[in-house]
Amino acid sequence: MFVVMRAEATEAEVNGVKGLILAEGLTPFENAGAARTVIAVVGEIGRRREQLRSRLEATPGVAAVTAISKPYKLVSREFHPENSVIRVLDTAVGDGSLTVMAGPCSVESRDQLMETVDFVTTHGANVIRGGAFKPRTSPYSFQGLGVEGLRYLAEARERTGCPVITEVMEPNQVDIVAEYADILQIGTRNMQNFSLLLACGRAGRPVMLKRGFGATIEEWLMAAEYIASAGNSQIMLCERGIRTFETSTRNTLDLTAVPLVHHLTHLPVIVDPSHATGKRWLVKPLAIGSVAVGADGIMVEVHPRPDEALSDAEQQLDFDGFESMMHAITGVHAHVRDLHGDLNAAAAAEDGRA
Ligand code: PEP
Ligand code: MN
Repeated sequence: MFVVMRAEATEAEVNGVKGLILAEGLTPFENAGAARTVIAVVGEIGRRREQLRSRLEATPGVAAVTAISKPYKLVSREFHPENSVIRVLDTAVGDGSLTVMAGPCSVESRDQLMETVDFVTTHGANVIRGGAFKPRTSPYSFQGLGVEGLRYLAEARERTGCPVITEVMEPNQVDIVAEYADILQIGTRNMQNFSLLLACGRAGRPVMLKRGFGATIEEWLMAAEYIASAGNSQIMLCERGIRTFETSTRNTLDLTAVPLVHHLTHLPVIVDPSHATGKRWLVKPLAIGSVAVGADGIMVEVHPRPDEALSDAEQQLDFDGFESMMHAITGVHAHVRDLHGDLNAAAAAEDGRA
């Protein structure tokens, strides 16, 4: 449930409500919004619900106690009506600007990474991607450079000033990845690795949670809730395609998820058309589509010589391809960015939230 405080509630009253929740063995999460503070009550409430509700309603400073209609609480728009903006170094994700995460599928060598980041960051990318620990379908495929790859990524950040995102595959890797990277990526195969979600929830770094290729939107948001419930609210979601009966593309890109997730949550949404399609020539049209439906950013794989890549060779863009895609999506973003504010307001009005 949510406790909605009165607009003029004092800090002592807010603390009184939090104290009551803590005394019940539950956890209060506060959203100090522009108009009023809302406190989510998180934990196993069980049969205490009605009694707790009455006690909270009678507590000084409380305007109302409302039920949360969704199973995810902290990531829901109901709890946090304003968009969340994630700031990392000089980049802001979710503030209406277009975030472009680009770099190779895998960090293969220092030279390969530096050549790529020099190009992409001078042609519009503002976040550097690159896998150091790689989740590969075959144990015989290149598994990534590991910590050596992380060191090159950190060097790429020093060189360009752009934050770095890289995948963390296991809870016991979180500390080392967080030491070198600015954003922790949770891959599609790990979306429901609950101990990894909790470990990332305890890390002091923003997290990008990719949608499981077989996950519903609700399962995806529940996974995000794990991270938030462990204390980390700096979460961005990434739609990267889901598995359907279609075999012409690597996955099926669910673009509906972008406006839908914006409607249901306050978290920024990134789209990865590289893993969604698995085909280089499909990346640009799907990147255009992603920006058109209101994605806060895209993540794409770029390699100086894609045909020589040690992983995902067929889907990595070459430099010309990246430049051409950037040109297209920059234009689309300029057209649509103001439109989406109107669309969100219309959706909110329809829900009776406006
Ligand atoms: C990646 O982005 O490096 C990756 C492995 O993607 P996904 O988890 O979406 O397959
Ligand atoms: Mn890849």
